[in-house]
Amino acid sequence: MIPEIYGNTPVLHLIRTMRSREHLPHAVLFFGQRGMGRRTLARYFAMTALCTGDHAPCGECLSCRKLLMDDMRDVHPHPDVIWVEHSGKKRGFSVDTVRAVCKDAIVAPNDGDRKIYIFADCDNMDIRAQNTLLKLTEEPPPHVLLVFTAEHRNAFLVTMLSRMMPIAVRPCTTEECRKALEEQHKCTAADAARASQVCGGNIGRALQYLEDEDMQEMTRQVAALTEAIAKRQQYHILHILSRYESDRQKAAELVRMLDLQLRDALVMRYVKDNLTGADAASAGTLSPTLTAARTEQMHRAVQDAYAALQASVSVRLVLAALGGALL
Ligand SMILES: [Zn+2]
Repeated sequence: MIPEIYGNTPVLHLIRTMRSREHLPHAVLFFGQRGMGRRTLARYFAMTALCTGDHAPCGECLSCRKLLMDDMRDVHPHPDVIWVEHSGKKRGFSVDTVRAVCKDAIVAPNDGDRKIYIFADCDNMDIRAQNTLLKLTEEPPPHVLLVFTAEHRNAFLVTMLSRMMPIAVRPCTTEECRKALEEQHKCTAADAARASQVCGGNIGRALQYLEDEDMQEMTRQVAALTEAIAKRQQYHILHILSRYESDRQKAAELVRMLDLQLRDALVMRYVKDNLTGADAASAGTLSPTLTAARTEQMHRAVQDAYAALQASVSVRLVLAALGGALL
């Protein structure tokens, strides 16, 4: 039995269909926010590609059973599914690592007729490493499949990207998230309900939220800030922002989360799901007060603030300027 995968049903369907038609791409990229199941999908892809049962992935054959024991982090029992280790600066992949993969790729698989290399979290894969990998991605040996995961598809050079099939990983619905937390991660009903409300359909983030008090506090502040923007409460906006003056990293996280709230407030006018922000209720309060022009202006201000926070501009100044732009 394969444990249920919550959300991303169209992606699962696509993988199974490509397999049943013997049309699996030789290189695939799962891209989307951290915590939305990119590794789970990479493993599902490998399982489907290597399954020897009737309806891939069957969950019963030897290959499937080995992959079900793969924890996608440290334990990888299938000899033909290789999670390439991060190396070099910034948790990327060094040129040496990539060269080793290219060399190993020529060797025939151990168990079956395919061999799969998974490069997870490729956001910091530098240009040299990508160029070294280009040839293999372009024309891998017939038994090789390559799987990449990244937050953004533009983590890759255009030359690389044009050789892989990019598949967007989407947030699941609040209900799917709640079920996943309760059924799969054994959270209490109350925790599951609370976390699924604030995590924007990102199960990984929901789990992190339940463990991390800082994140719970940050979520409360983002909700309060969104509410204050909706009501144009100048004092509240400035007060909330000023709490982050002494912590650049937290200030950047607050700004990032605020941007998702703005996005949700706008999206809510058209659809009720596919939300990615931390607090749907306050985004709902903000939604009817927005004009396209105001949203655009706030989004720009938030983006500018985020960039300035990455580039050592004084946190106090950045937040003060942002506060002005949000009124
Ligand atoms: Zn199987």
